[in-house]
Amino acid sequence: MISADSASDSSSTPHLRASLETFPPYVPGKPPRRVEGLTPFKLSSNENYLEPLPAVIDAMVAHAKDPALYPDDAASALRTELAQRLGVGIDELVVTTGASELLVALTQITSDATTEAIYPWPSFEMYPQTTGLAGAKRIEVPVTSEGRHDLDAMAAAITEKTSLIILCSPNNPTGPALRDDEVREFLQAVPSHILVALDEAYWEFATAEGVVRGLDLVADHPNVVLLRTFSKAHGLAGLRIGYAVAHEPVIQGLLKAVIPFGVTDLSQAAALESLRHWDEVLDRARNIAGVRDSFAQALRDQGWDVPEAQANFVWLPLVELSSAFEDACVEQAVAVRNLGAGVRISIGEQEALDRVLSAAADFRAQHFG
Ligand SMILES: *Cc1c(COP(=O)(O)O)cnc(C)c1O
Repeated sequence: MISADSASDSSSTPHLRASLETFPPYVPGKPPRRVEGLTPFKLSSNENYLEPLPAVIDAMVAHAKDPALYPDDAASALRTELAQRLGVGIDELVVTTGASELLVALTQITSDATTEAIYPWPSFEMYPQTTGLAGAKRIEVPVTSEGRHDLDAMAAAITEKTSLIILCSPNNPTGPALRDDEVREFLQAVPSHILVALDEAYWEFATAEGVVRGLDLVADHPNVVLLRTFSKAHGLAGLRIGYAVAHEPVIQGLLKAVIPFGVTDLSQAAALESLRHWDEVLDRARNIAGVRDSFAQALRDQGWDVPEAQANFVWLPLVELSSAFEDACVEQAVAVRNLGAGVRISIGEQEALDRVLSAAADFRAQHFG
C-alpha cells in the first residue's frame, strides 16, 4: 500500500514518460495585437482568409442538430465521395480530426523507443511532437539553402531502425514543393518496409511544373501514405477534418490508432459539400497562389531572399532578426509566425499584405540600409 506520507507529499509530481522531455509543445500562431486605428489581421496560422463557400455554411446549418448523436464513425458519405473524386477505393481512405490526428496515429503505428523517424527541418512543428511522443529517435535533416528537402541526405540517414519518413510538399514553413521525379528517385532508395508519409496539406496551392502528385505515388507504392486536410484550401480549419490515402494494410493500421467518433457529423457534412464544389475551392486556391506570387515578387523586388513559395504563405529566413521583424509587423496590427529560423507570413487580405510590405521595406532600410 502507498504510505500516507508519500501519498500526501505535495512536492512529488506524477511520473510522466521521459520522452516528454525531448521535444517542445506545439506553439500555435499568435492572434494580432490591437493597434489604435488599424484593422487587425492574423497571418500566423496559414488559415484561409476567405469564409467557407455559402453552400458549405448552409450544409452546416442543416446539420446544426447533429451533436445530440454520435457521428457516423466510418464517415461513409464523405469517403464515398472522396473515393470517387480521387479515383481510389473506399477502403484506401480514413477520415480523421485533421491531418494532425493522422500524424499522431502514424507515429503510433510505426514508432517507439527502438525506432527512428526522419523528416526535413525546418518543417511542420508537429513532426517533432508526434515522433518525440512515441519515443522515437528524431532525425531532423536540414533543408537546403533554398528551403528544399535534401532528399539525398534524407536517404543517407536511413538505418535499420528507421520506421517512418515524413515528407512535406509544399513544405511548411519554407515553401517549395517536391518534384515528382525527385520523390520517385528517393523512394527507390527507401526499403519498402519503411512507411513514407507525404504531407500534402497545401497541395491545392502548388502551381509549379512537375510537382509531386501524391495520389499517383500512393498507387505505385504500398509504403506511401498521403496526408490531406480540409483546413487550408477548403477553409475549414475550425472543423478539424482531414484524411489519409494509402493501401489497405496501412489504413487498417491507422483505424486502430484513431479516436472513435472523432470527426463530427457537422464536419463531415461541411467537407462533403466543399468537395462537391471542388472546382470553386481550387479556383480560390489558384487566386490565393496568384496573390502569393505577387507578394513574394514584391518582397524580392525590395531585395529579400524569398524561397520558392508554393503554398499559401511566404518564408523569410531571417534567423536572428526574426523577432525584430515579427515586432515590426505586430506594430502594424499584423500577426505573423516567428519560428526562430525565420518568419512565415500567411497570404491574407491585401491590406494586411500591403502593411507587411511597407514594414518590410522600412525593416530593410533600418537593418540592411
Ligand atoms: C496545417 C497543417 C497540417 C494539418 O492540419 P489539420 O488542421 O490538423 O488538418 C498538416 N501538415 C502541415 C504541414 C500543415 O501545415
